[in-house]
Amino acid sequence: MTLRTMVVLGATLITLSTAGSAQEKPGFRDTPMLPGGQWRVHDADRPAPVVVTPAKQPGGAPSDAVVLFDGRSLDAWTPQRSAWPIKDGAMTVPSRASAGGENALVSKQSFGDVQLHLEFRSPNPPTKTSQDRGNSGIWFMQRYEVQILDGYRNPTYADGTVGAVYGFKPPLVNAARAPGEWQSYDIVFERPRFAADGSLVRPAYVTAFLNGVVVQNHQAMLGTTAWRQVAKYTAHGDALPIQLQDHDSPVSFRNIWVRPLPEAAIAQDLKENVK
Ligand code: MG
Repeated sequence: MTLRTMVVLGATLITLSTAGSAQEKPGFRDTPMLPGGQWRVHDADRPAPVVVTPAKQPGGAPSDAVVLFDGRSLDAWTPQRSAWPIKDGAMTVPSRASAGGENALVSKQSFGDVQLHLEFRSPNPPTKTSQDRGNSGIWFMQRYEVQILDGYRNPTYADGTVGAVYGFKPPLVNAARAPGEWQSYDIVFERPRFAADGSLVRPAYVTAFLNGVVVQNHQAMLGTTAWRQVAKYTAHGDALPIQLQDHDSPVSFRNIWVRPLPEAAIAQDLKENVK
C-alpha cells in the first residue's frame, strides 16, 4: 500500500466514522484547493445546491420557474397591438389584417441570463414558401433572435431556418417536425457583457435544443439580429424583455417558462494558468 493510498483510505475512514454525526458534513478538508482558491476538492463546507423540484411531466415548469404562458392567460405579456387569441391551451399569432400591423408579444418581466422552454406549432397545412412559411422567433432582450420557422421540407437560406441564430449561424442539424406537430425549444441564453464605455466585453451565447436535439452549442452571437446586414452590438442594460415575433404567420405557442440564471450559472472559462 502506498502512502498516498493510506492517506486516502484514512480520510475515507474518518468520513465514514463521523457519518452519523449531526455536526460533521460529508466531504474533506485536507484535499487540494480548486482553481479560484475558494473551495477544496470535495469540500465539506461547500454549500449544497438549492433544491428545485422538477415537473411531473417532461417539459413542465420546475418549481422555481417563471411561467410566461400556461395555456390560459396572456397576463405575462404585452401585445404590441392586440391580444393573441387563445384556444385549446395554445395562443396563435393573429393575422396582420385583424391586428392592424405587426403585433409581437413582449414579456412584461425583463430577463438577462435565462433558461427558456417553449413549445410551438407551425401552421398546417403550410402556405407560402421559405421565410414566409411559419416564421416567428424568440427575441432575447428584444434583440437576439433564435429563429422559429416551418423548417420541414421548406428550402430557405441556412442561417434563417428553424434553430438558426438568425442571419449568422445555421443550426447544427435540421431537427424540425412536420407542420401541425408540437415542437419544443430548450434554450440557455447568456446576455452580452459591456464595459462602462459601451464596448463589448463578452458576446451573448446561446445553447439550444430543438425537439431534444442540440442545434446551437454555446454559440457566440454576432450582435443585434439584422436582415441583410452583418449584426453588431449596441450596448444596453442587463435585463430586457423577451419578445415573440409576429412575422405574419399563424404560429401557435404553448407551455412557455423561464428560469432567470444567477451569475454562477454562466459558463466559466478556466484561467490560462490552470494546469
Ligand atoms: Mg423569425
